[in-house]
Amino acid sequence: MPLFPRKPKYTIVKVARKRDIPEDLWSKCEECGELVYNKKLDENMRVCPKCSFHFTLGAHERVKLLIDEGAFEEMDAGMESLDPIAFEGPKTYKEKLKQDQEATNLKDAVITGEGKLLGRQVVLGVTDSRFIMGSMGSVVGEKLTRAIERATKIRCPVIIVSGSGGGARMYEGMYSLMQMAKTSAALSRLNRAGGLFISILTNPTMAGIMASFASLGDFIIAEPKALIGFTGPRVIEQTIRQKLPPGFQKSEFLLSHGLIDMIIHRKNMKESLAKLLSYF
Ligand SMILES: [Zn+2]
Repeated sequence: MPLFPRKPKYTIVKVARKRDIPEDLWSKCEECGELVYNKKLDENMRVCPKCSFHFTLGAHERVKLLIDEGAFEEMDAGMESLDPIAFEGPKTYKEKLKQDQEATNLKDAVITGEGKLLGRQVVLGVTDSRFIMGSMGSVVGEKLTRAIERATKIRCPVIIVSGSGGGARMYEGMYSLMQMAKTSAALSRLNRAGGLFISILTNPTMAGIMASFASLGDFIIAEPKALIGFTGPRVIEQTIRQKLPPGFQKSEFLLSHGLIDMIIHRKNMKESLAKLLSYF
């Protein structure tokens, strides 16, 4: 037996197999940490049964929630981005588009169309935060602009539901930034023609979306506890070197400071909108 036995080169660690919690069965509430059974969450319009946090809703589900059954006619359904600056990063823009198209069953981050909301004609646009964070590339901007122009022409109200964690879409460079001015200009023409625009902010509505059409509503409505702002709280804290007040950039804080007009629970949204529309 050697005096100094050689240590083995590697330590062998035994890893117990983690019990898998299938992600498609459970979702964790980002507000209260509760694990919620997905089926139960769907039955509850994807609102946390414990704390009422409103989970993200896909654009198609949102249309279903607001528009009468079978009464939605989608506009520009086939419109896709042309990759205007031939973006190449770790992933090319074309690859990213393909990946998110497959994951969400959308062509881009917005759905627009005409429909009936409890019998009232509206033009509806919904952005979807699952598609490149709901950022506004040329397709999102163009589709929303066409929807607003359509509403101006047929003289009916426009409702846009925003769910966008990103504003500009860096993959499209300045083509993306131009959409802020384009959508805002279309809303200005709608306004001059006496049209009505209701902006609904959902978790999250940030950056260039909030800095353009989303904050231009005649009525600005938010879902409870939604994150709404321009820059994220951490960046602001680092810049101004001050601690932000609790609840900063949440719907409730913004309501009490006058930036938004109403907070409406998802389950009351359709009826409340119909009531608002009945005044016009
Ligand atoms: Zn919760």
